[in-house]
Amino acid sequence: MNTKKLIPVFFLLFSFAIPQTLLAQGEFPKPGTMKPDMSEFWLPQPPVVTPGAVPCEEPIPAPSDADVLFDGKDLSQWRGVKTEEARWHVSNGVLTVNKGTGSIETKKHYRDFQLHLEWKVPETITGSSQARGNSGVILQGKYEVQVLDNYLNKTYANGQAGSVYKQTAPRINAMRRPGEWNVYDIIYTAPTFREDGTYRTYPYVTVIHNGLVVQYHTRINGTTVYTGFPNVEPHGDGPIRLQDHGDPSEAISFRNIWVREL
Ligand code: MG
Repeated sequence: MNTKKLIPVFFLLFSFAIPQTLLAQGEFPKPGTMKPDMSEFWLPQPPVVTPGAVPCEEPIPAPSDADVLFDGKDLSQWRGVKTEEARWHVSNGVLTVNKGTGSIETKKHYRDFQLHLEWKVPETITGSSQARGNSGVILQGKYEVQVLDNYLNKTYANGQAGSVYKQTAPRINAMRRPGEWNVYDIIYTAPTFREDGTYRTYPYVTVIHNGLVVQYHTRINGTTVYTGFPNVEPHGDGPIRLQDHGDPSEAISFRNIWVREL
């Protein structure tokens, strides 16, 4: 028998006997360690657009078919993420982060929704970049729309107010100055999943900040992570969460929070 003819046959059998992952490990380098700044981009900075003046200082009442999540009175619709009870401060119709007590989230879970909320940082706010009135609206407890004072405060573009945090920068910077109320209207479509746990359809979000579209049917690529890439985690309906970020600046406040299921 011609042994030369057998060489390819032996090679073929040999290659099947070795798990492909072992071959792959030897062939390719291991990925390097991710650092937080590897997922932060600063340019282009979203252009500043001055929103129209507020018609009145009072919040506009919720529509008749909305779940009123906070009407200025109490936190009965909320629970703590770290503790069963939501421990943020309610005073003069306003909800203020009680730093260190943890994020709070709605007791009720939602799928697709239209969410309205108003937020402001104190006029006396200090700090810079991410350490200046940092909070967040975390959709289904997974995907953060950033809340931050970006009035004359630069930070990485995909970490600004109205960003899908660490993913998509807002189209513009629509901030009102510290001490004035900012308004978010968020329209969110939940993802669906294949049996293997990957997205069949991605989550999508539209964010209107002070009447200006800053995210327009933006695809969310996965859960919000500080270091590394977004993860895909199968989930069902989820809460609307407000973030206790813990940055050293003064605490951020919220009012007039309501949601309509879609
Ligand atoms: Mg945040």
